[in-house]
Amino acid sequence: MVSNICKRFAVIGNPIEHSLSPFIHESFAKQVGVQVQYDRILTFSDNFSTTLYEFFKQGGTGVNITLPFKETAYLLVENCTARARDAGAVNTIYLDKQGHLYGDNTDGIGLRRDLEKNLRVNLNDKKILLIGAGGAAKGIAGALLCGNPYSLTIANRTVTKAENLVTQLQSFLAPCHSDILGGGLELAIQQDYDIVINASSQGFMGNSPTEFKVKVGGLAYDLSYGIHSRAFLDFAASKGARAVDGLGMLIEQAAEAFFCWHGVFPETCFLLSSMRTATSN
Ligand code: NAP
Repeated sequence: MVSNICKRFAVIGNPIEHSLSPFIHESFAKQVGVQVQYDRILTFSDNFSTTLYEFFKQGGTGVNITLPFKETAYLLVENCTARARDAGAVNTIYLDKQGHLYGDNTDGIGLRRDLEKNLRVNLNDKKILLIGAGGAAKGIAGALLCGNPYSLTIANRTVTKAENLVTQLQSFLAPCHSDILGGGLELAIQQDYDIVINASSQGFMGNSPTEFKVKVGGLAYDLSYGIHSRAFLDFAASKGARAVDGLGMLIEQAAEAFFCWHGVFPETCFLLSSMRTATSN
């Protein structure tokens, strides 16, 4: 049921000033006729938990969590959805009926909707390379496997984190028929991939996280957007790949979070095309 009371929401992360989440949630709210105040909150590892608890103590209704706190947020919530538990990472939090912190992860469904609905990409039988093994990678890896790819290769700077993610995926996706492999960044050049997904935060330094091999006409998708995705997308385009940033995923994961909080699913296509036009000018 849609309410007239102005509720408070926020996105918590570091860095945070670039975040488009306030604009997206305010646009959805206008579209469905609810009143929201949605802020950006910058915090640091030492006081992330205090920031989170304080927001809800002061009457906040829901938060999104962004880098680098999704895995810490998972440890702080008292209960969560199955998809957040499988990911071991949380990007959406609200209070349950008992007033306890309840976590969800909408990154995986957001990416799948952008790939399949907006970009018309079919994951079935594809060789997928996932670069990164942080909170975002954990959120999307299970959803990618649900698309039944031929293989999922996870390449990360810290090798143990990629290996741990593979073990985690194998433990909850027992009937999955895809090959799952994890290791260092050298895996990115081991074969030509159909789809390469960059879930590393290296774009914030202005670089692509690694060289990678992608088939001509394949898809290279960067979870980040705007200037932070530039180096990765330029490299992909130079290899003849279709290069796409994470704006569509950002909007789709936000729509799913909006649904968790307000019980109504906003229309996303119009917002995506208007934001694409605005960011390309
Ligand atoms: P995170 O938990 O901090 O993880 C960062 C990842 O990047 C780790 O795998 C890390 O490797 C890797 N990395 C960092 N610096 C690197 C470097 N110099 N070279 C190679 N790898 C490096 O962050 P996150 O929450 O997963 O977010 C990752 C990215 O996804 C961010 O750009 C975020 O904005 C984006 N994102 C977008 C959406 C969307 O809706 N479009 C949603 C979620 C996230 P180590 O393990 O070795 O440290």
